[in-house]
Amino acid sequence: MLSLNAAQQAILTQIKPAQETEFVPLLGAVGRFVANELCARVDNPAFDNSAMDGYAIKHSDLAAQNYLLPLAGASSCGSAPVKLASGTTMRIFTGAPMPDGADTVVMQEEIQTQGDRIVFKRDVRLGENLRYRGEDFRANDVLYQSGRRLTVYDLALLSAAGVAEVPVYRRARVLVVATGDELVAPGTPLRPGQIYESNRLATLLQLQALGVTAIDGGTVRDDITALRALLKDAADYDFVITSGGASVGDHDLVKQIFAEIGEINFWKAKIKPGKPIAFGLIGARTHFFALPGNPVSSLVTFKLFVEPALTAWHHAQPYQMEISARAVNAFQRQPGRMEFVRAYLHTERGQLLATALPGQGSHMLGTLKNTNGLIRVAEDSAGFDVGEEVTVTPLRLDLG
Ligand code: AMP
Ligand code: MG
Repeated sequence: MLSLNAAQQAILTQIKPAQETEFVPLLGAVGRFVANELCARVDNPAFDNSAMDGYAIKHSDLAAQNYLLPLAGASSCGSAPVKLASGTTMRIFTGAPMPDGADTVVMQEEIQTQGDRIVFKRDVRLGENLRYRGEDFRANDVLYQSGRRLTVYDLALLSAAGVAEVPVYRRARVLVVATGDELVAPGTPLRPGQIYESNRLATLLQLQALGVTAIDGGTVRDDITALRALLKDAADYDFVITSGGASVGDHDLVKQIFAEIGEINFWKAKIKPGKPIAFGLIGARTHFFALPGNPVSSLVTFKLFVEPALTAWHHAQPYQMEISARAVNAFQRQPGRMEFVRAYLHTERGQLLATALPGQGSHMLGTLKNTNGLIRVAEDSAGFDVGEEVTVTPLRLDLG
C-alpha cells in the first residue's frame, strides 16, 4: 500500500496537463491559472507624482526666499506636467504630476497662508512626499509566470500594469458521480435502509470553489451495467470522480469498471480516513479518482489528492500549508497509517492551538461543524499528549 507521499507523487507524475488556453478579461480571471509569462505594459508610477495634497516646491528656493513663496498655479490629477516658475510654489494634489522644476511636496497641513503667499516650516526634507516613476515596477518587468493562480490582488496589479486580459489554461472539465443503492437526495422521504447523499454535493461544490467546470453525473445504483453506461463517455472529461463502491465488498463495482475502461495506478493509500482511494487514467488524457464512500474520507481524500491533481493539471505547483500548533487535548490511537484528525484551530495570545474533536468516525459529519483544520499524525505515532507540538493544515480561516 502506498504512503501518502508516494501516492501523491504517483498522481503528479501521471498528470497530463492542460494544453488549450484562452484569453479572459480581468473581471473573469480570479482563480484562473496563467498560461504565459505576463509582463507590465507601463512603469508604475507612470510619472513622478505627489503622494499628498499640498504644495510643490524646489527645495533650494525655501532658504533662498526665507521660507515664503508666492503661489503660482496648480497641478491636478489627469493633467500633463506643468512648469514651476522659479521661486514660486504650486498647489498640487495626490497623484498629480510633479511640475517640471519641483523636487519636493509639502503637506497642506504643514503650511500657513499669508495673502497669496505660502509660509513653509524650516524642517522640510528634500524630496519628501514624492512618488517616483517606476519605483513599484517597470514596463516589461515579468509580473507572473505560467501556472500562477490569480487572486484579486494579482488582478489589481495586472490592471494597474495595463494588462486588459490574461491568457489562462482552460478550466478542467470534471464529471462527478456518486454510487450506492442506499443513496437518495434530500427533499425526498427516506425509506428503510436509505440515507441522504452528501459526497457528490460536496465534491461538486469543492470543484466549483477551485474554479473548474464541475459536471453533475448524478447518483448511480450499484449495478455494473448502469455504471458502465454512465461512464461510457468518460474520455470526454479531463477528470472523472466517483464516490463509494471503492472498497472490496460484493457491491463495490467501481474498481471493476475502472479496470475495464482504464488503467488503475493505485488502489489504496496508507492513510486514515480514506484508505480505499483509487487513481488512474482512462485513455490518454482522462484522470479518474475513485473516492471512498464514507463522507469524511471523501472530503479528506479530495483535499489530499484531487486538489493537488487539479492544480498540477493547470500547470501550477500544488501546495498544502502545514504549521505547528500546540495540542489542547490528548489523542491516542493505533500506529500504522498516517491519520488526519479533524480539529478546531484557534489562537490564544498569538499561539496556535489545536483541539482534536470528538467523533472521528469517517461516517460522522456532525464533527464537521466545528472543523477548521486537520491535525496530521505520523504513521508510526501513537497520538499526542496535551501541550505537545502537532502539525496542522488549516482548512478555513474564518471560523474563530
Ligand atoms: P462504500 O464505499 O460504497 O462502501 O460506502 C461506505 C459508506 O459511505 C457507506 O456507509 C455508504 O452508505 C456511505 N456513502 C457512500 N456514498 C455516499 C454518499 N455519496 N453520500 C453519503 N454517504 C455515502
Ligand atoms: Mg456503496
